[in-house]
Formats: sequence, structure tokens, C-alpha cells
Amino acid sequence: MSSFPRPHLGEPYLLTPGPLTTSYTVKEAMLRDWGSWDGDFRAMTADLRAGLLDLLGAGKDDYDCVPIQGSGSFAVEAMMTTFIPASGKALILANGAYGKRAAETLRYAGLDHVVLDKGDYLPPRGAEVASLLEQDPAITHVVAIHCETSSGILNPLKEISDAVATAGRKLLIDSMSAFGAVEVQPGTYQFEALVSSANKCIEGVPGFGFVLARKSALEDSAGNCRSLSLDIHAQWAAMEKTGQWRFTPPTHVVAAFLQALTEHRREGGVAGRGARYAQNRDVMVAGMRELGFETLLPDEWLSPIIVTFFCPGDENFDFGKFYDLMKARGFIIYPGKLTEVDSFRVGCIGHMDAAIMEEVVRAAGDALKDMGVSNAMPPAAALEARAELIAK
Ligand SMILES: *Cc1c(COP(=O)(O)O)cnc(C)c1O
Repeated sequence: MSSFPRPHLGEPYLLTPGPLTTSYTVKEAMLRDWGSWDGDFRAMTADLRAGLLDLLGAGKDDYDCVPIQGSGSFAVEAMMTTFIPASGKALILANGAYGKRAAETLRYAGLDHVVLDKGDYLPPRGAEVASLLEQDPAITHVVAIHCETSSGILNPLKEISDAVATAGRKLLIDSMSAFGAVEVQPGTYQFEALVSSANKCIEGVPGFGFVLARKSALEDSAGNCRSLSLDIHAQWAAMEKTGQWRFTPPTHVVAAFLQALTEHRREGGVAGRGARYAQNRDVMVAGMRELGFETLLPDEWLSPIIVTFFCPGDENFDFGKFYDLMKARGFIIYPGKLTEVDSFRVGCIGHMDAAIMEEVVRAAGDALKDMGVSNAMPPAAALEARAELIAK
């Protein structure tokens, strides 16, 4: 039996990278209104900033937390355009959709950048980052994606952070889908700023993102940002002075998030949360493999956040049908985001445990039977394409 009750009113579990399934108590925390100027809400904002800083762990005293309205991409854009000055140049480490989005964001902002594109599922390695930085002294900042949610790969952040620090450059991390479940202690990783959002591993509802940045970086960033509403320096300066957000804050989302932070703490913080997600992944992946499904990535790179599977080669398999059959059984899965092969994704994050992941596997097995798919093995061509790319 799962100790995680089914979502309210029979709504399906969201096996997605956020918005995700939240606890009843997180939803309940939204059942009142707050005045954004009032002292009660200012105290909530202060708690939120302090609670997020605590998750950084050792070394947190050199950092500060700045929440910003909007979805995660708004916060990524805010971080990059606040910390990369007009005279700077960024190296973006891309291996999927979110790395590409970071590059697109800098193109819009007119900031100079180069991209190391590793394709769909190969990690950027420390040695290649070191050599790119050596070849191009104009690069001032490196942008890394912690967990590339489009494939589910957990990128080797330690190697990358070491390479960037050794070269004397600055690291900006999109830890959107990892922060709160994977450690990013400043004592271990050297970074200028990282960004995440309310509706990923902390298990809040969507509505704001947050930047955790070195105080020195915040102080030095005045005047960099060319967007009024995304200026992290201005948001930080105003919050320090008045305790308020500059523009209408998502009050209910903040209230829900404080409850989510309490539940995160109760679960044992980053280590506890990460352990539950890893168990969710292990149980789900083992069960899916038994059905014949194959993961895109070898075990070494499987994140505890979300897992990509190849679509089966069986001619009776149809992703749209599979999706509907899974939904009818109470589970929303996620389409794939790969360019080369047909795939789908199953998230491991949200208010659910391994007992629920066992139900997910049973539902997948039943859905295959309903479609007349006897084996979930991927087509040989997909495996060959992967092998060829890895050999390159
Ligand atoms: C979710 C996510 C984002 C932000 O996406 P939004 O849809 O704007 O919330 C950015 N980067 C990564 C790695 C993500 O997983």
C-alpha cells in the first residue's frame, strides 16, 4: 500500500516534469487571499527566500535568493540577462531542448554566445569544456543544464563546474528540474547563480521561479538587464529594501510553496526527496524493462527526475492510444522530445512513491495488451541510430 493518497477527486497522477502532482495540503494552502503589501505576506516572502537558501547547504552564506514571477523560462532568461553583461560572451552546453532554449533566449537578448551541441543524449564532459574555454578567452560565462529534462539525462555538473572554475570563468546553472532533489552545494560546486522554479522538485504549483546567486554577483549586476520585469538585480534591491516583490506577486502560489517547503523539510530535505525519487525511478524502470521497454540512456546517466523510453517497434503500438489508455487508468505520461527517434517520457517526481510506480507499470502492461502489442522492444533501427551516435 502506498502512504501517498490518490490525488483529490480522482484526478490523474501527473507523471510529468511539472506542473506535477502536489499534496492535498499544498493545494489547501491556497484557500485564502493575501494582500501583497501587507506584513503577513512580506513575512511569507522572507520565509520563502530563507527556506530556499537553506536548501543550498554548506556555503549558502555567500548567496541570496531572488524569486521572480513567471514560469521557469522567465527565470532562466532573467538569470542570464542579469548576470551576462553586454560585453560578455556565453558558452552554452546543450544536449536537448532546454539547452537550445537557453541559446534562443540569448539570441533574442542580443548577447554574444557559442553553443556546444551534444545532440539528444550525450553529456557535455569537463575536458571538452576546458578545451573550449582555453581556445576562446572571450568567453566570460558558461551556461549548463543540470538535468536536461527533454531526455532525462543528469549532466556531470561537478566536471563542468571544475573546468569552468579552473579556467576562471563564471558558471550559470539551469537546475530547474533537479534543485531540491539533487545536491548543488556551493562547497562542492562553484557557480555564480542557479535557477529553478516552484513546480518541480519542491512540489509546489506553477507561478514563479527563483535565482540563487552569489551576493557579489548580485551587487555587480546593476544595469546589465535590458528588461524591466526580468531584472534580477532590481527585484533583489527592491526586496532587500521593502520586503516586497516589485510587481503583483503570485500570492497563492507563494502560500502553497511555503507548505511544500515544510513538507520537503519533513521528508529529510534534498537527500530525503532525492532518495524517494531515485526509488520511484528504480522501481518504474525495472518494471518497464520487464515489459520489454528500453530506456534511451544507459543507467549511468538516468536522472531520478524523468526517464525517456523508446516507443515499441510493434506495428500495433500507437503513442496516442497508449496515452489515452494510461490516462484512463489514472496516469498522465509525457510525449518524447527527441529529434531522431520516437519516444515517450515517464516522470518520477511529484507527490507519489514506489507503490504508485508499481501501479504505473501494471497500467502500462495492461495498455499494451489492450493495443495487442506483445513485446515493447524498440525497433532495431532506433537502437542502431543510438549506437551510431554514441560511437561518434
Ligand atoms: C521545466 C524546465 C524549464 C522551464 O520550463 P517552463 O515551461 O518555462 O517552466 C527550464 N529548464 C529545464 C531544464 C526544465 O526542466
